[in-house]
Amino acid sequence: MDDFNSKFSLLASAEPTGACGYLTVDLSALRRNYAKMASLVAPGSAAAVVKADAYGLGAGPVSNAFYDAGCRHFFVAQFQEAMALRPQLADDGQIFVLNGLQPGNEELAAIHHIVPVLNSFDQVRRWSQMAGKLRTRLPAVLQFDSGMSRLGFPPEDRRELRSLLQSDQGLDILFMMSHLASADEPEHAQNADQLAAVKSICQEFPDLRISLANSAGVFLGDNYHGFLARPGLALYGGAPVGGAANPMQPVIRLDISVIQTRTVNAGARVGYGAAYVASGERRLATLAAGYADGLLRSLSDRGAVFYQGVRLPIVGRVSMDSMTVDVTDLPDNTLSLGSLVEMIGPHQTLEDVAAAAGTIAYEVLTSLGQRYHRRYI
Ligand SMILES: *Cc1c(COP(=O)(O)O)cnc(C)c1O
Repeated sequence: MDDFNSKFSLLASAEPTGACGYLTVDLSALRRNYAKMASLVAPGSAAAVVKADAYGLGAGPVSNAFYDAGCRHFFVAQFQEAMALRPQLADDGQIFVLNGLQPGNEELAAIHHIVPVLNSFDQVRRWSQMAGKLRTRLPAVLQFDSGMSRLGFPPEDRRELRSLLQSDQGLDILFMMSHLASADEPEHAQNADQLAAVKSICQEFPDLRISLANSAGVFLGDNYHGFLARPGLALYGGAPVGGAANPMQPVIRLDISVIQTRTVNAGARVGYGAAYVASGERRLATLAAGYADGLLRSLSDRGAVFYQGVRLPIVGRVSMDSMTVDVTDLPDNTLSLGSLVEMIGPHQTLEDVAAAAGTIAYEVLTSLGQRYHRRYI
């Protein structure tokens, strides 16, 4: 028994190794990207959009990095995200819920100082009732739909909403907001259409300031900034405008572990469905991450990883938990169990991976999942 216990305590002190990969998040790059956005929108301010667990990078540590850089406005999509973030963030960091006020969340929102973005008359009514019940004033943001047809009051409702708010509803309307649908295409006619719609809505509410620009919107010019920009992607190092050089600093590095290597002969079939057949003798490495780790299946036979600058193409289909790369271009025995190869880093950007997968950087980031060992530096 003693023998067992001593063995057990040995085991308990051992650190697990063999993570499928390492996701490194550079907190100082996050702070610098926030500072850059804040200076671009000055004299307005920059919020930080930290929905979907801060685009997959961890809402707690990421929000605190932005807080340290001066950010005090944090947008999440869902009420549950706000509840999870609230205890991790200083009290003067305001948390806004973009998706509105769901029935049943009013009391928790009020108690935890979570600010709903109100998208309908029903939401205004329920938030106002909660203010009455608690005999207090409650903060809120009004969202208008300026052309995306997704969330918010339609512009036609602006007069009715104004007269409703002229009779005291117990609400402190902090500002109003709208969202741009095509800001990443600077030439798109919808940008000017939405700006015009926002201006005419604003005329109805001369006392309220407007929050309009997302990351790409910041680069459309000063007239799109409003008093509070809401960047997300750019803060995480993503390119705010497609095609142009990326002005933001990279934030993440993703290294994937090798779990086996082998040499195969001509005719060898690789992976599910034998989608790849070796045309000659090849050296292969199996990596420990797959589509369950955000390395989308559409990377099959298209994407690549890098090792010391050498491109190693993905061969065959990406599996759920693994994928196979061709390492023939590396000297023999360069890679072995536990070696790390670069998926996102100095040789391959987030945008490169997204392009190879036929998607956008947003989807790659938010798909990364929970299995990587995370390092915040
Ligand atoms: C996601 C989102 C943002 C941030 O958009 P980015 O393109 O990531 O900068 C801003 N506002 C709203 C309403 C959003 O849904």
